[in-house]
Amino acid sequence: MSIEICNVSKTFDSFKALNDISLSIQTGELVALLGPSGSGKTTLLRIIAGLETADQGSIIFDGEDNTSKSTQDRKVGFVFQHYALFKHMTVFENIAFGLRVRPSKFRPSKEAIKKKVHELLELVKMEELANRYPSQLSGGQRQRIALARALAVEPKVLLLDEPFGALDAKVRKDLRRWLRKLHDEYPITSVFVTHDQEEALDVADRIVILNQGKIEQIGTPEEVYDNPANPFVYNFLGNVN
Ligand code: ADP
Repeated sequence: MSIEICNVSKTFDSFKALNDISLSIQTGELVALLGPSGSGKTTLLRIIAGLETADQGSIIFDGEDNTSKSTQDRKVGFVFQHYALFKHMTVFENIAFGLRVRPSKFRPSKEAIKKKVHELLELVKMEELANRYPSQLSGGQRQRIALARALAVEPKVLLLDEPFGALDAKVRKDLRRWLRKLHDEYPITSVFVTHDQEEALDVADRIVILNQGKIEQIGTPEEVYDNPANPFVYNFLGNVN
């Protein structure tokens, strides 16, 4: 599904978090929103998801205006920075949640839900852990479950807020390779927030660099690496964060 972000602005109190952002994302792209802390990345992601409303501008999915649609109606999967799993539910129940809360007309049967959850557990390589609770899992395992949960509703758009930020280097690398593979195999469009330039360069099809609520640069990893618009913030040679 393509995403068209048209002239989006957002002010908190008198602070302009996003200042006239326009961006086109093609179907199937994996786009990184990169930028320093406070540059507006999460706010933009939440506006695409419908978790936050823009003061101005519109969000178009496949040519259809979604600006005033609810998150549920936008059919997006959202992965939060700190997993946000339900503590009192097992892994199975966490993944099944989005399917069970559907209106009865759209709710799959118990058997279909079970089948789907097991497919997703296989996809994130967590088949053995269906009956565990989140407190019994490592950070990497929790994030895999959060990914499976986001994918349960078969979203055409997957939005991820610093999905691997809290994990150690090896797990981060495994999960970002997994995300790349998911992209190469499934028809899904994804936007992920990161402040880690190496992560963006490693997996994204395109990188959008935000700075102080504005787009500073858009390009492929090669383009932004070879010719950074703001070498003082991103020199892509050493890490400046
Ligand atoms: P980033 O994800 O790039 O770190 P954010 O989008 O989270 O940036 O935030 C951009 C700016 O907007 C920050 O200065 C932040 O403090 C402010 N901000 C974000 N959400 C809120 C909110 N709900 N209320 C007030 N200010 C907010």
